[in-house]
Amino acid sequence: MKTVYLDNNATTAVDPEVLDAMLPYLRDLYGNPSSMHTFGGQVGDAVETARARLAALLGASPKEIIFTSCGSESDNTAVWSALRTQPEKRHLITTRVEHPAVLNVAQYWEQQGYSVTYLSVDAKGRLDLDEYARALTDDTALVSIMFANNEVGNIYPIQCMAETAKERGVLFHTDAVQAVGKMPIDLSHLPVDMLSLSGHKIHAPKGIGALYVRKGVRFRPFLRGGHQELGRRAGTENVPCIAGIGMAAKLAGEHIQDERVYVAQLRDKLENGIIARVPDCMVNGDPENRLPNTSNIAFKNVEGEAILLMLDQLGICASSGSACTSGSLEPSHVLRSIGVPFNYAHGSVRLSLSHYTTEEEVDYVIEHLPGVIETLRAISPFKD
Ligand code: PLP
Repeated sequence: MKTVYLDNNATTAVDPEVLDAMLPYLRDLYGNPSSMHTFGGQVGDAVETARARLAALLGASPKEIIFTSCGSESDNTAVWSALRTQPEKRHLITTRVEHPAVLNVAQYWEQQGYSVTYLSVDAKGRLDLDEYARALTDDTALVSIMFANNEVGNIYPIQCMAETAKERGVLFHTDAVQAVGKMPIDLSHLPVDMLSLSGHKIHAPKGIGALYVRKGVRFRPFLRGGHQELGRRAGTENVPCIAGIGMAAKLAGEHIQDERVYVAQLRDKLENGIIARVPDCMVNGDPENRLPNTSNIAFKNVEGEAILLMLDQLGICASSGSACTSGSLEPSHVLRSIGVPFNYAHGSVRLSLSHYTTEEEVDYVIEHLPGVIETLRAISPFKD
């Protein structure tokens, strides 16, 4: 059976060119980039090429890029560094709809005696900029707000929020794990101090991420040990994956228009096709301002997990809530924060595309998904 992969916000396929860029460092060029000899040196060059490629994608300078093991490590490091460099400040601002890589970190610091403001969202998942401005105080050490939401795809007004933080002298971090590669980001014009990203969301392998730290921003390492990454992140570099994320960044820059036009058109075709054929469903989030690849649809009076199981039997990979929260039958924290009605929130399914998604695949889902919902509604214990 053919696999129709519509779970690209959970992870993406490794691009064949990314794999090709990695293989030499898994086979022959196994030296340590910190070694003095030429053999290690050429491996060190690969790390720097990758750093330059990632910096170019973001409009940053290579020295501002620190390689990490994943988006979660980048998020943890950003918060850790902001709090450790400003011990006198004891307040954090974030949102209720962050990924657990920020939300659980904020809760951890709250348990350590910090105060945390969790900004609320409206029925479309939008933030209130006045609430944000009111939350900033002289005690605020860091604002950490995601660039784009992993579940519903909402894009947040990072430019404006980072400018406000800057005016108030407060550090600003953004978790851009879902935004990088799906929309242009130019850090030469965007006044954020730190930005997290992850390789496996941009067609590089799992186990590699990066943290951008703007030049001049004080930094404390989260991982201590050797002097790698200019002393900012200890541990021998994961060179094959670093070469991979560098190539993925280069390709993401080349594909950015595809994401905005081709992928968005396919997503709209998919979403409109489903809504036209299935009664009592609605789009979660803000359709006017979201990632080009993401559609989160709530089907009334059905269980999301049951939809996923039936789609799985048809070879269709999707997700209910985020991959990290599935497995629990509670609606995700994002859908609860948005206030999606209970009988809709339970039947929410996230479909996330990539430039590998084809029109034929979209047609296949439009053809089969309505039957799945009809079958499940016929046996559903939830009725009006
Ligand atoms: N932040 C967001 C918005 C995410 O979607 C994810 C992964 O789903 C992460 C952080 C964590 O990234 P990683 O899986 O690389 O740790």
